[in-house]
Amino acid sequence: MDFKQYFRDIQDFPKEGILFKDITPLLLDAEAREKMLEHLVSELKNKQIDKVVGVESRGFFFGILLAQKLNVGFIPVRKPKKLPYKTISASYELEYGQDTLEMHIDAIQKGDRILIHDDVLATGGTAKAVCELVEKLGGEIVQCNFLMELSFLNGKEKIAQHPIFSAITY
Ligand code: AMP
Repeated sequence: MDFKQYFRDIQDFPKEGILFKDITPLLLDAEAREKMLEHLVSELKNKQIDKVVGVESRGFFFGILLAQKLNVGFIPVRKPKKLPYKTISASYELEYGQDTLEMHIDAIQKGDRILIHDDVLATGGTAKAVCELVEKLGGEIVQCNFLMELSFLNGKEKIAQHPIFSAITY
């Protein structure tokens, strides 16, 4: 299946100069959504995933679908002050300034085999911070997977020590 037809380019969103990759057409189409899920799962054969980590907010969509399909737990990584229990945090650089992500301290047990999921791998700052959170709690990162990778931004370099799979590469 050609998944690219389910990603819509939105120019200058959320600010000028950004070409936003809108995944909502994929979410709308039940058949394409299932095919994408199967495609991502086919790259996880015999990988023994214990938990899926999904990144706020668009990483939640397929993150939860993956967790359900793999019959494992789901862990939300969220922006600051969204999670109600005790958290650990990791910060990362943005074009202007810094951002922080948080995870519940009891979400991962030492040695848990973790799949990290997000919709887009761009500069890799987000994924790197999520890897840090997982490793802080002793999780083992089995794969970082994405619906798409914007390869011209070289995000892979930031998380090169981990296996990476992207369904689509631009
Ligand atoms: P980065 O940290 O630069 O790899 O950015 C990845 C995060 O930002 C992901 O959570 C994406 O949802 C979001 N993101 C970055 N660039 C885009 C884009 N062009 N279109 C849609 N989402 C993006």
